[in-house]
Amino acid sequence: MSETTTTRPDVIVVGGGIGGLSAALALSRKGLRVRLLERAKEFGEVGAGLQIAPNCTRMLADYGLLDEAKTLGVVPKAMVMKDATDGSELTRLDLEDLERKYGFPYMVIHRSDLHGIFLRACQRAGVELLTDQACVGYANTASGATATFADGHVEEAEMVIAADGMHSVARRLLVDDQPVNSSYVAYRGAVTIDKVAENQVSTDSVVVYIGPGCHFVQYPLRGGEMFNQVAVFQSPKALAGEEDWGTPDELDAAFEGMCEPIQLGLPLMWRDRWWRMFDRDPILNWVHGKIALLGDAAHPPLQYMAQGAIMAIEDGWVLAEHVGAQQAQRTADGGTGVDWDRALAAYNAVRPEHCRRVLSTGRKWGELWHVDGVKRLQRNVILRSRDTYDYTYTEWIYGPTALTPEQEPPLYPIIPLASVTLPEGADA
Ligand SMILES: Cc1cc2nc3c(=O)[nH]c(=O)nc-3n(C[C@H](O)[C@H](O)[C@H](O)COP(=O)(O)OP(=O)(O)OC[C@H]3O[C@@H](n4cnc5c(N)ncnc54)[C@H](O)[C@@H]3O)c2cc1C
Repeated sequence: MSETTTTRPDVIVVGGGIGGLSAALALSRKGLRVRLLERAKEFGEVGAGLQIAPNCTRMLADYGLLDEAKTLGVVPKAMVMKDATDGSELTRLDLEDLERKYGFPYMVIHRSDLHGIFLRACQRAGVELLTDQACVGYANTASGATATFADGHVEEAEMVIAADGMHSVARRLLVDDQPVNSSYVAYRGAVTIDKVAENQVSTDSVVVYIGPGCHFVQYPLRGGEMFNQVAVFQSPKALAGEEDWGTPDELDAAFEGMCEPIQLGLPLMWRDRWWRMFDRDPILNWVHGKIALLGDAAHPPLQYMAQGAIMAIEDGWVLAEHVGAQQAQRTADGGTGVDWDRALAAYNAVRPEHCRRVLSTGRKWGELWHVDGVKRLQRNVILRSRDTYDYTYTEWIYGPTALTPEQEPPLYPIIPLASVTLPEGADA
């Protein structure tokens, strides 16, 4: 996109997804010269909708981007969880009350719209944006760190941020791990609202149907002009170790017998592509000298908490706050520049632990969604007993993003299901 200048930047960001762009923006707001290099030939996002909770919209407001996001997205009235088998309601969040409580909205937005908002903000902020730049290696130097690219050229800066996604090259500097296969697969589909059968669903809410080995999510997008759906299920072929898994025949089989709104929604899914769902085990060190992981490179999650992109945005905001604090300290001490080691240590002291909790809670939350038989009935008893206005379990995620290590928060009610007594006559 823009020409490389010969001036050495203060920061290099590798990867131009939502994580990389938002970090580049946050750091440039601290007066730093930022150069971002993306592997793809053009900037863009593949996929459909994203849910963004108050812990993210709070940051969009800080960046002056919330109004644009609200214009492009939708602020739904409620998030409703239903049983996929019979369609009955299990629990809900009143998103108008949630906004009053946290001061910022819970909203949904097309991924490419959120990506575009950050891309345009980076352009306005003067971030150097380069495409067709595949990073193949990272190294520390005496005065910072380098990133080496497939064409052989080397970029150097005071600090290098690796926002290069799930298959991060930089992650290998810190851990020798592999993505963990969940055996679940996601289908997506975003269609114009006229394609949605009348009365099929509430178009002013996020609705999540949870069922045996599957779930189905529906919500409006783009000011209500589009309708987004995600269908997720466990692939029998993946469990059997077959290579060709998650295919459309498995999609149809997984949702057979589920409630009517799902049956009406299924034909609207894209059938020519699907996303096999992998995460990685949490790691508690993201920093190697002046090289730091950020976003999915550090913490690729299963998406049950809907916090993956949000965590990436939080990473950049927190890092920039610590860089700004170290800059201010240097100035107060009569010097210039940033104490990068201190800024990175502060980032590393707070973000990995928070993201570890999100990743591990997400795995458990997903297990609870997908139970069958008696366990399904026991789970439903727990979810139905939750008061709509009880925020005990959302506080640690949706509250203000911590800049220092947090107290241990309550996890979601991962109550042993066997302890739940079913009402008389309940039949699995
Ligand atoms: C079905 C599904 C639903 C989801 N729903 C939500 C949701 O509701 N809310 C939410 O917050 N999150 C959600 N997520 C998670 C979210 O999409 C990701 O966590 C987020 O997009 C990660 O952003 P990132 O920028 O860190 O990584 P990526 O989006 O993977 O971006 C990495 C970028 O780096 C580039 N790159 C990679 N390697 C190199 C290289 N070697 N050199 C240069 N560039 C490179 C890539 O081309 C890419 O542009 C969902 C995920 C899935 C699968």
